Amino acid sequence: MKNLRKPCCDPWSLFLEISRSSTHKLRQSILTALTASIQTRYQEFDKLDGDFTSIEKQAIDAQESNALKTCYSTESDPLKRFKQELKSLQAGFEFCQYCGLNEPDTIDHYLPKNEFPEFSTHPQNLVPCCGRCNQIRGRKPWRDQDECSTLHLYFDVVDDTQRHLSACYDGANKSVDFSVSANDTNFGFRYKRHFETLNLEQRLGARASGALDSICSQLQTISNMTTSAEEPRIALERFSINYAEHLKKLRGINHWEVALWLDIAGASHFIESCLERGVSMENRHEH
Ligand SMILES: [Zn+2]
Repeated sequence: MKNLRKPCCDPWSLFLEISRSSTHKLRQSILTALTASIQTRYQEFDKLDGDFTSIEKQAIDAQESNALKTCYSTESDPLKRFKQELKSLQAGFEFCQYCGLNEPDTIDHYLPKNEFPEFSTHPQNLVPCCGRCNQIRGRKPWRDQDECSTLHLYFDVVDDTQRHLSACYDGANKSVDFSVSANDTNFGFRYKRHFETLNLEQRLGARASGALDSICSQLQTISNMTTSAEEPRIALERFSINYAEHLKKLRGINHWEVALWLDIAGASHFIESCLERGVSMENRHEH
């Protein structure tokens, strides 16, 4: 997990451009009548500087709410342009930063548009993420007991120095379990909450368990290529640590693959089983 790059285009100009591009007469007049109150809301958003724990809903009627939400659901030229800019801004983030699992091919409203329709096109409320995370966030409360349920990756500073996520290979079930330790830090507690909200224990576990076979083949290939006099198991443990280090630089210290490779480095029974499987396959080929 890493922080995303915060869009810095002017939210207010974008809103005006989008609302003025509407060809729907009634919607336009509703949006025009709302201009002053929306501007005040945008100023409030700015003042919060990413701390949304206490933001209140605005009293707004259904017609106004629909007009505001339509600013997002109608693909106007200014909105299309913004989405393109957002895509270029986040170039290099191969995975959804909420989960680290999938391609970030949707845009999430951090403050849900049904509760906060006035922020439906606010650039800093639009966070690229995968469809699964977007769906899970959509059906759970975004805030619970005055705490935000997930991290806002434009504002909440991701601590990339401390390990909070650990993986544990379960040899009996041939599966991997993930857990989070808050380590008594503010970020740790927030990350733990984020992890629980997005069902990451189950989602990361399923992905990592499904990847074990290909990891095993990868380790066999590396072992076959190694010419050093070192014991094969030791060489693979060292490879796993180095590979985790490499992934850490790319994806952040709390990415599931980093946790997984660090655990593999210490799971000698897993490495040995891969080596044994490699040997028995070689024997099969020979006979
Ligand atoms: Zn995701």
